[in-house]
Amino acid sequence: MISPSEINKNNKKFELENRKFFNRLKKRPPSDIDQEVQLLDELVFSKINCLDCANCCKTISPVFKERDITRLSTHFKMRPAEFTNQFLYLDNEGDYVLKSTPCPFLLADNKCSVYEHRPFACKSYPHTATLPIRKSWELIIKNSAVCPAVYEITSILKKKYK
Ligand code: SF4
Ligand code: SF4
Repeated sequence: MISPSEINKNNKKFELENRKFFNRLKKRPPSDIDQEVQLLDELVFSKINCLDCANCCKTISPVFKERDITRLSTHFKMRPAEFTNQFLYLDNEGDYVLKSTPCPFLLADNKCSVYEHRPFACKSYPHTATLPIRKSWELIIKNSAVCPAVYEITSILKKKYK
């Protein structure tokens, strides 16, 4: 399995390569693509321990929806506006994201200090288990240059559907 540091060193190149592959696949998606990605998601994640990695929490931000902000600010006994001011900003797409990475809620042992209250985007990351897969293409392309598991899933798909 590729290491997080290897991915981070080559992330632009990997995103470009994988975007080309997925753009071709998207035009004529194989009929078994959902089943295939679901099986690969289970297989690859059975071989990886996210606590040895945490590359997603260290390098990118989840989107914080209103309900995430409400839940987390209640957890911290803060007002939602206070929580937003302290941790978030509005990005170019109009989404609330973290002001800085690594995520301020990530602990030194790679555990999430707000695990029970974490944003929905963290729960569904890296979206290779979100079906139908056609709704997650863009996220999967981006995550294939962040997450070693998605990189691996993509590499297997490239061999199968070359
Ligand atoms: S989801 Fe991917 S990037 Fe995040 S910790 Fe697990 S393997 Fe690493
Ligand atoms: S909230 Fe938790 S799971 Fe989400 S990015 Fe931060 S540390 Fe990772």
